[in-house]
Amino acid sequence: MPAARSTRPYRRGISIAAMVLFIATLAACSSPEPADDSLFVRCGLLIDGLADTPLANRMVVIREERIVAVVDGDAEVRPGAELLDLGDRTCLPGLINTHAHLDGTPEDYEDFSVYYRRTTEETNALTRALAEETINAGFTMVWNLGAYFPEAIYLVRDEIEAGKSIGPRILTAGPYLTIPGGGGDMVMPGHDESEIPAGSRLGVARGPEQFAEKTRLAIERGADLIKVIASGAVFAFGGVPGAPEMTEEEIAAVVEVAHAAGLQVTAHVHSAQSGKDAARAGVDTFEHASLLDDEAIAMVAEAGIALSMDIYNGSYTEEVGREQGYPEEFMQKNEETTEAQRVVFEKAYAAGITLLYGTDSGVHPHRTSGWQFAIMVERGMAPMDAIKSATSVPADHMDLAADVGAIEVGRFGDLVAVSGNPLEDMTIMRDVDVVIKGGTVVKDAR
Ligand SMILES: [Zn+2]
Repeated sequence: MPAARSTRPYRRGISIAAMVLFIATLAACSSPEPADDSLFVRCGLLIDGLADTPLANRMVVIREERIVAVVDGDAEVRPGAELLDLGDRTCLPGLINTHAHLDGTPEDYEDFSVYYRRTTEETNALTRALAEETINAGFTMVWNLGAYFPEAIYLVRDEIEAGKSIGPRILTAGPYLTIPGGGGDMVMPGHDESEIPAGSRLGVARGPEQFAEKTRLAIERGADLIKVIASGAVFAFGGVPGAPEMTEEEIAAVVEVAHAAGLQVTAHVHSAQSGKDAARAGVDTFEHASLLDDEAIAMVAEAGIALSMDIYNGSYTEEVGREQGYPEEFMQKNEETTEAQRVVFEKAYAAGITLLYGTDSGVHPHRTSGWQFAIMVERGMAPMDAIKSATSVPADHMDLAADVGAIEVGRFGDLVAVSGNPLEDMTIMRDVDVVIKGGTVVKDAR
């Protein structure tokens, strides 16, 4: 198990008000009630994120943002309450993507220096738009795993929580913790370092002491978890994917500070060596994990580290990269890592390692966040396990099971619906046409 659990869960437990209201409702069942603001959602099929089999014809009742009952689909709807009849749909919990970047799009890789030129307002507006695109794809929660401009993510996270803009519940890692010129540092060929906006380098450090200090600053400023670039990015200039960047001692210094504050640490890992370094340093999660060898996989299993493997976006990059003018270096690195990563995915699944649904959205379009399910199943994962990897499994990993990850009494009324049964055809998850977050219908495109 991970050594630390977040003490900053998205929200406290069940609100007392919601429980009192629910009990009052039960007591008053026999007498007519005045109009209330409950939402009754009838589901033809319900995959609740916990059970191994779907349930037919269920009614989910949401009040004051939380699920207060899951009953027979033919249960009477309280007078005055709203009914959303999804009797011809499959309902699932709101989906969780454990690897998103809300401050960038794939088009940015055509010319990375766009990050130098965007104004703060432009970055904020882009982040708002991408958050909306993300929830419309069915993802009611994301972990934003690092940002060049962490302030934009904090701002939009807080706006969404206050109901001022539309988007998923966001946990954000703040800045990339990375070495100078490393995978999270925005240096690029043909550009002088003086062009790099200072605000994008808040996590650049060298040596355990500096990294510990950068971690403290990120936590102080509002990070919900911490991200380290243990080894080089695919979409970065210089270096090779997998070449270790941060040392084990540097990563351990970050882990110590983060865990002391109750925050988890997630490591960007593209190689066996950096995976072993990060595992020994005590991180909780790896992203990518594309070139792990069998020894590293065994270490991950032994340490209870969860893997968030973005096994869809290699296909996307291959499809559009050349046409869109991505630098040849990015295309080459993509080729070297895609199939290798899928093989590690198969081995990790067979080894019983916790697998979290994480797509690196931002490298692929946010609207395609649901496209990875089909590839996971193609590569040997049971369909229900693929659904759980995007619902109850990440909720458990982040100690958020009281709030998200399942359609269960007490949790937030976050649910999505698709046409057809995804357990029979995972490509259905590409088209989520109904999204409800906290009992509010965010999208209804039926
Ligand atoms: Zn990423």
